[in-house]
Amino acid sequence: MTAAKSILAFGLALVSLPCFAQADYQRYGAPLAPAGPDPVIAKALTRIQPASIQKTIETLVSFGTRSTLSSMETDLPPGKGINAAADWIELQLNAISKECGGCLEVKRDVFTADPANGGRWAYRIPRPTQITNVYAILRGTDSAEANRIVLVTGHYDSRDTDILDDLGASPGANDDASGVAVSLECARALSKLRLPATIVFAAVAGEEQVLLGSAHLAQLARTEGWQIEAVLNNDIVGGNTTRGDTLQLKDRVRIFSEGVPEAATPEQMRRILAVGGENDSSSRELARAIADTARVYFPATGQAAFHAALISRPDRYHRGGDQSAFNHEGFAAVRFTEWREDYNHQHQDVVRPPAGSSDPVKGDLPEFVDFNYLAQVARLNAATLATLASAPGEPVDLQMPLLTLASQRGISKTTIGELRNGTTLTWQAPAGDRVAQYQVMWRETTAADWQYGKLIDPPASGASITATLPISMDNVVFGVRSLDANGHASPAVAPEP
Ligand SMILES: [Zn+2]
Repeated sequence: MTAAKSILAFGLALVSLPCFAQADYQRYGAPLAPAGPDPVIAKALTRIQPASIQKTIETLVSFGTRSTLSSMETDLPPGKGINAAADWIELQLNAISKECGGCLEVKRDVFTADPANGGRWAYRIPRPTQITNVYAILRGTDSAEANRIVLVTGHYDSRDTDILDDLGASPGANDDASGVAVSLECARALSKLRLPATIVFAAVAGEEQVLLGSAHLAQLARTEGWQIEAVLNNDIVGGNTTRGDTLQLKDRVRIFSEGVPEAATPEQMRRILAVGGENDSSSRELARAIADTARVYFPATGQAAFHAALISRPDRYHRGGDQSAFNHEGFAAVRFTEWREDYNHQHQDVVRPPAGSSDPVKGDLPEFVDFNYLAQVARLNAATLATLASAPGEPVDLQMPLLTLASQRGISKTTIGELRNGTTLTWQAPAGDRVAQYQVMWRETTAADWQYGKLIDPPASGASITATLPISMDNVVFGVRSLDANGHASPAVAPEP
């Protein structure tokens, strides 16, 4: 074939192809668009201001060290050490509670960490050490849903270069006074709201000694049957301001989430692997709900733009955080962290090089925290907590029955033939009576976030819901979420594999 002929043949082949058809999954739903903001939540977010955050961080730094090991030091000057920091955090929560007529229950979870139980990390706790978590509960107002809990946490302990140094200066401004500031700002912003579900505002210790405080709180939650639906762990969210760092991004915060749940049983693992369900843990769905909240409450572009950057891994390489302690107990939990960390300003002794030196300042100091950026992170946390505590509970026992169920129900063989390329989802209503609509959502199997949706009205009676869509279940991932009358959405749940 000559070149001219082959070009002609190629052109004819193009012309004879049908135009690119719309796929079933594009045809039977609408592309997702963010809901309008709730004016009550939007107003609450305006209470979060950089000046208050700055005060929190500078006060926490003023305790000199917040090494967890300093809790056992008897010769620290007054107002120094981690116990003084715990007292101050408790005082702040009590003050916030006083302003809302005692709306918060402020509590301490105190225990002694014993090196004998420390395993490979025991060297980080050389002697029995008292650890104190401080938290406040804003009880939900709906009797059927007050058991549902969303929790925000940061760790108030700090460290310097030597993990065993309990006396040296350990300012911990970014790691993690910034996360504690988020918990306190969320309490300040949301305490005057009356929301159906419960919010817990926490500050934990022992993180640097390998998650001791959060592990204890997560175990307490499990043994006491707390129905935790979301844990937002904020750790290193100060948006580093090191001069000359042109790669730090201030319009986004990273959301780390586990894919395959650490707490999955071998049978659950088998099912997850069998259907490619590695990208739909409850933690991953929580991360997507946070990204959705960011789209609702922040502009996509301009000065105030702010995004949740989904990172599909449990944490940064070779690093850990308190979300993992909650994942370990089977709870949905994610980690918020600034876009790029500066390792000169965490886990470092404070070193100021002489004037004229080009060496960097070392140490986790308040001068490297961007309080405006941190306020944006706090607003995204508060918006997420308020949205999830306003939304109804997640759909329960979501199933995607295959043909066997269709035949059990006596559906004819012809119908089964038709169902083969369609999808049926069944689920149960969550506790309470506030679901106005469900939204079935789906995405391409390679997409990071939900793309399409279809609203489904709850049935007039009964708690069982069935939705059938003429979309091949093999080509997309499905999820369902619950919406209240004002459009507050729960995180999605994916069908049991
Ligand atoms: Zn940290």
